[in-house]
Amino acid sequence: MKPIKSSKQEELHQNILEVSHLQVSYKKNTEEQDPACQDISFEIQEGEIVGLLGESGCGKSTLAKAILGIVTPTSGEVRHYSSYPQMIFQDPYSSLNPTKTVGWILQEPFRIQKRYSKAERKERAIKMLYKVGLSEQYMERYPRQLSGGQRQRVCIGAALMLEPRLLIADEPVSALDVTIQAQIMQLLLELHSQMGLAILFISHDLRVVYQMSDRVMIMQQGRLVEQGSTQELYANPQHPYTGALLEAANLR
Ligand code: ADP
Ligand code: MG
Repeated sequence: MKPIKSSKQEELHQNILEVSHLQVSYKKNTEEQDPACQDISFEIQEGEIVGLLGESGCGKSTLAKAILGIVTPTSGEVRHYSSYPQMIFQDPYSSLNPTKTVGWILQEPFRIQKRYSKAERKERAIKMLYKVGLSEQYMERYPRQLSGGQRQRVCIGAALMLEPRLLIADEPVSALDVTIQAQIMQLLLELHSQMGLAILFISHDLRVVYQMSDRVMIMQQGRLVEQGSTQELYANPQHPYTGALLEAANLR
C-alpha cells in the first residue's frame, strides 16, 4: 500500500530560502576590507530550524541583513519563496519604539499594510500577546516598563503579526540571563511547531544552537566552512575550525 502523503508533508520539502554565491563588501572610507560575506551558498526548507554559528565579527549579522535586503550584496543571489520574512535582534530594547505602547507596536505591520479594521487589529494584537506568553494587560505598557525577556517576547510577537514562514533570529537570546534565555528558546520552538515557522537561528553559542537547530552552518571569516545535521556535525566535525570551536566550548 502506498503511504498517503498530505499536502503539508510535501510542503515540508520545499525551499523557503535559497542563497547562492552571496558576497557582501563594506567599503570603509577608501580602504578596501575583506568581504564580510564570501561565496555563501545554502538553502532553508519550509519549517526547518537552521543554526548559523561563528565567532563575533565573522559576518553572521551581515549575512542576515543581506538575506533581508537591509544591506545590498556585492554579488550573488538571494531567493525567497515566502512573503514577509522577518528578523529579530539581540537587543530587544533598541528595536522597539520607546514612545509607543506594546499594542501600538504589535499593530504597526497591519497599519502599514492597511489591513483589517481598528477593532480587528486590536483583537489580533491581544491574541499575539497570549501566543508569546504575555497577556492583554501588556497592551498599554511602554517598552521601558518591560523586562528584557518580555521585550524580546514583544519583538517576536511583532515579527509574527504578518504570519511569516521564515524568521531570522540574530542572537535573540545573547543579551538575556540564562533562565530567560531558556524561556525564549522554548517559546521559539513552540512557535516553530505551532506555525510551521522556519527559523535561521544565529548565535555564537554552541550549546544554544545545539538545543535549537535541526541543521547547523559554521561560519569563519565571511565563509561557510561546514554545514550538516546538528548531531552529526557536533559528533563528527569535518573542518578543523569546527573542531576548535567545539573544543573551546568543552564539547569535545
Ligand atoms: P557578526 O554578526 O558575526 O559579529 P558582522 O556581520 O556584524 O559579524 O560583521 C562582519 C564584519 O563586517 C566585521 O569585520 C565588521 O567590523 C564589519 N562590518 C559590519 N557592519 C559594518 C558596516 N556597516 N560598515 C563597515 N563594516 C562593517
Ligand atoms: Mg552579529
